[in-house]
Parts: sequence; structure tokens; C-alpha cells
Amino acid sequence: MNSPTSSPTESIDRFFMQLAIAEARKAEEKGEVPVGAILVRDRRIVGVGHNRPIGMLDPTAHAEILALRQAASRLGNYRLPGTTLYVTVEPCAMCAGSLVHARVSRLVFGTTDLRAGAVETHFQIVTERALNHRVEVTGGVLADECRALLQHFFQERRQKPRSSQDSPAAFVAP
Ligand code: ZN
Repeated sequence: MNSPTSSPTESIDRFFMQLAIAEARKAEEKGEVPVGAILVRDRRIVGVGHNRPIGMLDPTAHAEILALRQAASRLGNYRLPGTTLYVTVEPCAMCAGSLVHARVSRLVFGTTDLRAGAVETHFQIVTERALNHRVEVTGGVLADECRALLQHFFQERRQKPRSSQDSPAAFVAP
């Protein structure tokens, strides 16, 4: 339930999620599944990324991975403690695992991913006790907007289907 007044953290979360949504739109413009990510430390952006596996011919070029790579390169550290990752969609197993490897402190995501979600939906990788690092999670921030982006993308694609790529139906949110 949303309370009428929001805490400073909620306002900050919504602010950075809006930026992640703007990143997701860049993916959509390129014909990629619209997912965007922003990595923040001390309220400063240290990495951004949008989904680009088709354009980069790289199955690992998810928004989260690109944001982590950019931040690690900029900060000169393969570990990113004290950072918060904002991403429009619940991360997959690869990205969730990468958040653990990178020692990201906090994850804020928009909508859940019924196909591949690995933070709450199918696996709980970032909070798994067997792993040596756990990530604080806040889900559902601007979820409706994040979900609408995906739904719009796949609606458009169903109207003018492409020959290849993964199954659109898989990404349809609840
Ligand atoms: Zn991913």
C-alpha cells in the first residue's frame, strides 16, 4: 500500500527509476526488449545501460551487465560496494549473479519477470544464504510504468512480427 506521504528514500528511488525507464526507451528505439538500468553510489550515477544483446551480438548484453561494466571501468574496481542498481525489470539469473559478484549493496527493480525473474519469481539469488554476499531488495518501484513499456513493445511486435528472436509472450507481465 502506498502511503500518501513518501519517505526520502522512496522519492530517490522513484527519481532514479525514471532515469532507468528513460534508458529502457533507448533500447526500445533500437528494437531491443525495453529494459534499462542505472547504477548509483552516494546519489551519483556511476553506470548506465540498456538492453542490447541483438545489436551487440552478445547474449550477455543485458542492461544491468552494461551498467556494472561501465561503473567498474569508471571507478577502477571490479567490485562495487555501496552501490544501488535501479532496473526496470526483475533481473535474470545471470544479472542477479553478477550483482552478487560485484558486491552491489542494494537492488531496486520495477516490474517482476514471470519468465526469467531470479530475485523473487523463480530464484532468490541475491538473498541466497549459501552465497557470500547478499543484496538488499526493493521491488515494485514504478512497476506499472515499467510493465507498460514491455507490454507496449510486445504489442507492437506482434503487429509486425520479426523472423527471429526469443518468444515475446514470455515477457508479458502479470
Ligand atoms: Zn539479465
